[in-house]
Amino acid sequence: MGLNVDLHSHSTQSDGVLAPAEVARRAHEQGVDCWALTDHDSLRGLDEAADAARALGMIFVPGVEISASFCGQTVHVVGLNIDPNHEGLRSGLARIRNSRFERAREMGVRLAQCGVEGAFEGALRQVGNPDLIGRLHFARHLVAHGHCKTLQQAFDRYLADGKRAFVPIDWAALDEAVGWILAAGGKAVVAHPGRYRYTPLQQRALFDRFRELGGQAIEVMTGSHTAPQCSHFAQVALEYGFQASRGSDFHAPGAGRVDLGELPSLPESLVPVWRDWLEDV
Ligand code: AMP
Ligand code: MN
Ligand code: MN
Ligand code: MN
Repeated sequence: MGLNVDLHSHSTQSDGVLAPAEVARRAHEQGVDCWALTDHDSLRGLDEAADAARALGMIFVPGVEISASFCGQTVHVVGLNIDPNHEGLRSGLARIRNSRFERAREMGVRLAQCGVEGAFEGALRQVGNPDLIGRLHFARHLVAHGHCKTLQQAFDRYLADGKRAFVPIDWAALDEAVGWILAAGGKAVVAHPGRYRYTPLQQRALFDRFRELGGQAIEVMTGSHTAPQCSHFAQVALEYGFQASRGSDFHAPGAGRVDLGELPSLPESLVPVWRDWLEDV
């Protein structure tokens, strides 16, 4: 039995529902030995997470999930083992959070045009980190106030790409996101590659560019992938010489396909992204 490694999860510092220390506790209960907190575009939960993980005897990897743009779509890049005090990374993320705030105001306007008043203020009440607002906070507000039955319905009706309250956003360029992660001493990982709607040609361009920039890994085992997608991206990792990551993308108990630490192990043929860190363990 290898170590149980989970390198993708969210807390109340972005759009998760548990505080960083509570995510740590749940990861530990779920049998995770090595855990990363990777909130969207924020490093604020990392101190609390590190302290909690240490107290529980878990190996902690400081992380972040950066929202980036490539070929007109959003792509998420996870940074692992980053230095949370790196100025370039910090200022880049601050810029993204600012765009998020402006987008949220505009989403409030769009929702009002759909007959849903006060959604911006309502979404703000769902937020744990006053600096970070996202679509899931709007979705929770829409469900809490009876506008939608489920989070999925809130996305399908209003929030998903191209829907009535969708407001496109200029995230960081892929080049910038990878650059900040590497400058902060981390490894860059393409998150849930199976979720993007790229053509095969665009997907090749993404992986080629990512590798040119110094990106090291892709997520193979993630709560977002079906079993065939896991096999497909294992093949992609081998083809490109990428290391492979494993992460549940945990947001809330009972939400999503898998809980912390629950995914299958990586195929033996792949090099785990954590290999260099855990050599001595
Ligand atoms: P944002 O980064 O603010 O654009 O919001 C993206 C986040 O919304 C993702 O990280 C997910 O947590 C969540 N999300 C996206 N699509 C869905 C969906 N269909 N159902 C539930 N949550 C979703
Ligand atoms: Mn999220
Ligand atoms: Mn993501
Ligand atoms: Mn995520």
